[in-house]
Amino acid sequence: MARSTSQLYLDGVSVSFDGFKAINDLSLTIDPGEMRAIIGPNGAGKTTMMDIITGKTRPDAGEVFFNGVIDLTGEDEASIAELGIGRKFQKPTVFESHTVWDNLELSLKAPRGPFATLFHVITGAEKKRIEELLELIRLGEKRDELAANLSHGQKQWLEIGMLLAQDPKLLLVDEPAAGMTDAETAETAELLKEIAKDHSVVVVEHDMDFVRSLGVKVTVLHEGSVLAEGSLDHVSADERVVEVYLGR
Ligand code: ADP
Repeated sequence: MARSTSQLYLDGVSVSFDGFKAINDLSLTIDPGEMRAIIGPNGAGKTTMMDIITGKTRPDAGEVFFNGVIDLTGEDEASIAELGIGRKFQKPTVFESHTVWDNLELSLKAPRGPFATLFHVITGAEKKRIEELLELIRLGEKRDELAANLSHGQKQWLEIGMLLAQDPKLLLVDEPAAGMTDAETAETAELLKEIAKDHSVVVVEHDMDFVRSLGVKVTVLHEGSVLAEGSLDHVSADERVVEVYLGR
């Protein structure tokens, strides 16, 4: 797809750490409303790629575009988040001593800044949005529970809800199912599919069963570049992919 109609567009991106090319001429296009799984062996460059998209790491070469026209290259993390890119790290970070509802309410108000957040009285529309998010993240009945009392999986869902409260266009999610029970893992796949109905989603994942359950296009990274792209069946039949995974 052309840059102008893409949600996220990386063109010839490279970055080196002490002379080592962690990302090497990486090009990638994510369409609006697409969910993409990024896989690859340890050290393939998955985290560094996410760091570049979110402005944590600046590329030495190449370009990153958001919504087709917005040049993210060289922008800082806060500006990129404000433009509508949300990132979910592997470990859940919720406010443990607040209720599920308050976690969502605080996230919804956060873009107003700390002072306005303190004094802003929640509107009817904002309450409705929190109700919708509670349903989506499967925590409707846990709304008054302290976040500290949630299971690991529920905390992950709450954090996803907190990111969605800030209305991102693109959500980057790092190993969402790590440490979850089988039931939570299956529910997480369904949750991500629901989110992908009106967001673009990039999921970095090691668990191939989980990737299969998402049923989306897969990009295999290796040595900082795209090695293969297509359905999971397609890429796992690719000899080069088998080689990098089995280290032959
Ligand atoms: P992945 O997430 O796919 O496991 P990473 O993006 O974490 O891969 O790392 C890609 C390569 O870049 C690895 O070889 C890693 O050691 C190296 N690397 C990542 N960050 C740094 C850094 N800040 N300094 C030096 N090397 C780094």
